[in-house]
Amino acid sequence: MSSLHFRKDLLPILRNRIPGQLVVQVTDRCNARCPQCGMRVTERYRRSSLSMEKTRAIIDSAAARGIRAISFTGGEPLLLFSDLVEMIEYAAGAGIDYIRTGTNGYLFCDSDAAGFDTRVHRIAERLSRTSLRNFWISIDSAVPAVHENMRGFPGVIKGISKAVPIFHEHGIYPSANLGINRLVGGPGIPVATDSQLAAEPTWQRSLLTYKNAFRRFYRFVSNLGFSIVNACYPMSIAADRSEGGLEVVYGANSQEQIVRFSRLEKGLLFKALQETIIEYRERIRIFSPLSSLYALHRQHSSGDGQPLYPCRGGIDFFFIDARDANTYPCGYRGSENLGKYWQLKKVSGAVAATCTRCDWECFRDPSELFGPLLAAFSQPGQLLRDCIRDWNRYRLWLSDIRYYKACDYFDGRRPLDSRRLSKFKRCSDPYVPSPRQWTDCIDGMVPRDGA
Ligand code: SF4
Ligand code: SF4
Repeated sequence: MSSLHFRKDLLPILRNRIPGQLVVQVTDRCNARCPQCGMRVTERYRRSSLSMEKTRAIIDSAAARGIRAISFTGGEPLLLFSDLVEMIEYAAGAGIDYIRTGTNGYLFCDSDAAGFDTRVHRIAERLSRTSLRNFWISIDSAVPAVHENMRGFPGVIKGISKAVPIFHEHGIYPSANLGINRLVGGPGIPVATDSQLAAEPTWQRSLLTYKNAFRRFYRFVSNLGFSIVNACYPMSIAADRSEGGLEVVYGANSQEQIVRFSRLEKGLLFKALQETIIEYRERIRIFSPLSSLYALHRQHSSGDGQPLYPCRGGIDFFFIDARDANTYPCGYRGSENLGKYWQLKKVSGAVAATCTRCDWECFRDPSELFGPLLAAFSQPGQLLRDCIRDWNRYRLWLSDIRYYKACDYFDGRRPLDSRRLSKFKRCSDPYVPSPRQWTDCIDGMVPRDGA
């Protein structure tokens, strides 16, 4: 996408709305053993997949409502490969511009077996004939044995290193999708309580530990051949609804220590990620926005910062589950079943967002990115006061906009342009886009999922 769609992009913003996104769980079946996820193969419950008929109804309705982005997530979406391809083609035919899906990589195991290259070529070639924009491959750790052990896929990293160049040959540039966990750097990040982290030396030491883990990870995925990387923030919502009244619909959530972080640990994690991204974003396209990480760090670490831009879940973004094709404001507000998407009453006009109860990056990152744009039209005075009070946040936001443009808005069908990224050499300098760039920015900031 390179031109601004007035009706699809600008008009919603003028009405205090943003281009819509659906996360559609095509199946909750999975063959991996990830400790950070309630859908792992070892969990016993009745598994489901969306039928083509229901998916078509969802897509038709999404297109009629002007939804711009659909993520087909799982479970493991590639377990339904031929259905998935049909869904992608149907969504593209209906006019959805940003279509994403991905894999846990199970098809890349046994890379020494005869026929591996042929099999991967066949998958990549078939996907390349669709309008799929982004294809993610999950990677949990900078250490192959740790990742393979977590997923239960021995040898998969070697297979991924062979598969990525094959995808490139077919014009697909997969993104490495990190689900942040304590083993991201290899050696486990030790648990620290909030009272321990309140001491400055411990906090500084821990910050360095987190940064070193992220540094190892970004180096590792770059060396594997990836040119895009995204980070999914840890989701650990209690099953007893004790955390902010949330109730999990989307099982990409776990109570395991590996993804449980205290409030101050989360603050630390977001700060470490922000500072590490500044070091690495000249080498690899890193989707996670600095402004969002800055705001999340403030939210978790001090509580004295300005409020974040609230989440657009339930207003412009929705989650649809595989079990019964019902719609929810997001994957974590399970008590708010909105029924079938194609029967959903249209959310009309300006609706104020209020929820900041979790860190689900699929909805939080785009909400934060669009926040200042919405404020510019709906509350310009407030935006000006916010800029004066916390210019650093808006400086980072402007830097994000500039970076997104240099990354072709994370178009996974285009290779990385190292000349354009080289301008971001350890740099988060402010940058004021030209009027033309502003329109491109709005067009390119359509949200995407990182499940
Ligand atoms: S994180 Fe993904 S691959 Fe792992 S168990 Fe969950 S759905 Fe499966
Ligand atoms: S912040 Fe967004 S994703 Fe999280 S519970 Fe609220 S609406 Fe859902």
